[in-house]
Amino acid sequence: MHYISTRGGIQPIAFKDAVMMGLATDGGLLLPEAYPQVSRQQLEEWRSLSYQELAFHIISGFVDDIPPADLKDLINRSYATFSHPEITPVVKHDGVYILELFHGVTLAFKDVALQFLGNLFEYILAERNEQLNIIGATSGDTGSAAIHGVRGKKGINIFILHPHGKTSPVQALQMTTVTDANVHNIAVSGTFDDCQDIVKALFNDLEFKKKYSLGAVNSINWARVLAQVVYYFYAWLRVTDEDERKVSFSVPTGNFGDIFAGYVAKKMGLPIDKLLLATNENNILTRFVNDGDYSLSDVVSTASPSMDIQLASNFERYLFYLYNQDSARVRGAFTQLKEQGRITFSSEEMARVQADFASASVDQAQTLETIGSFNRETGYILDPHTAVGVRAALDLLPADIARVCLATAHPAKFGEAVEKATSAATPIPPGIAALHGKPTRCDLMDADLEQVKDFFIKHIV
Ligand SMILES: *Cc1c(COP(=O)(O)O)cnc(C)c1O
Repeated sequence: MHYISTRGGIQPIAFKDAVMMGLATDGGLLLPEAYPQVSRQQLEEWRSLSYQELAFHIISGFVDDIPPADLKDLINRSYATFSHPEITPVVKHDGVYILELFHGVTLAFKDVALQFLGNLFEYILAERNEQLNIIGATSGDTGSAAIHGVRGKKGINIFILHPHGKTSPVQALQMTTVTDANVHNIAVSGTFDDCQDIVKALFNDLEFKKKYSLGAVNSINWARVLAQVVYYFYAWLRVTDEDERKVSFSVPTGNFGDIFAGYVAKKMGLPIDKLLLATNENNILTRFVNDGDYSLSDVVSTASPSMDIQLASNFERYLFYLYNQDSARVRGAFTQLKEQGRITFSSEEMARVQADFASASVDQAQTLETIGSFNRETGYILDPHTAVGVRAALDLLPADIARVCLATAHPAKFGEAVEKATSAATPIPPGIAALHGKPTRCDLMDADLEQVKDFFIKHIV
């Protein structure tokens, strides 16, 4: 299997090279040249597999440059850190299935992909005798999942900048209690944008980037999407029987990575009826699906902060297929976006978009109302991100087709909003309780590029 760029500017590369490249060198995103097809019979044979076994079968269809025994070992080690034996269990409440993706170390679905990516990086770097220095800015979730993905890994250093005092206390502790020698938390006196500006400046210094082998862990890495494809299959196998049955998935969406993994599963032949793209007030993708209006506006802060995004980085992957794999059109669309602040679509294109996706935007009041009513009716507690998806599913998806809602975070991670909605304290899982009182390590810095640069150079050993 080889990988190509949405912008058409690179020669096809192997899987391991795609993992190390991250963003394509022509500025595009990497995609496989083809999708392995899964038959009905194959699906039936997969019913009895464990999550890890299923992951091996699905992932190996996209990877031909890692020996099977090594790939199995990478997968097994990645999911050994999860606290639930099923890794991503499915529960049913109030007529909807909840696919719990939050049993990893940082209690958010990003662990599913980043545990695997951390192990993959370590494996490839060892083979090539190379080093990788990851730098990133976070407003909370991605940073902690990335840190836990690479802590203690050979050949990797990670530097994560977060705005001092502006992440939730739990999110800060999930980062700063990781005291492995290769992990560097930098609390910046400033905003998330200040952190991001510093990281961007470091990456834009191409000489610096090359000299110090800088890398990123944002959601554009193909390996992250690939790891997420697995749980669509896993959930489908849990909620169907041998009769031909379709399933719809509701996905709380920010960067379009999670829902794109569902689109990949569908492309591989998984019988998916609708992919429901649920957004909060930051609803550019909902306006796109429903009205063909892909125009930028300002980012609004909400109770589901991991979805407070305007420009979804993985959207380009979908555009590539919407444009029938025409890279020139992808490039044209981004030129239009830059010049006019919007991308426009033909009615034929919109018909295809609406065949692939349904979409709804759920505002903060509806989100909190859904957490409250769902809790009263079922006793189950939704986190605000999950609640956006559940509300959209209840409003839009017909009940005669199984509805699976992706639960992307544990409610205790966003306890404040949940307590407001349920008027009760959120039960604290042992993983969070144990954070308090642990030793922490974090360096406080000004929002100053040179200060961060000096620190970085001193600490890459
Ligand atoms: C990252 C995240 C999302 C959004 O996922 P995308 O892949 O960016 O669309 C939703 N919920 C939670 C809790 C997240 O951390």
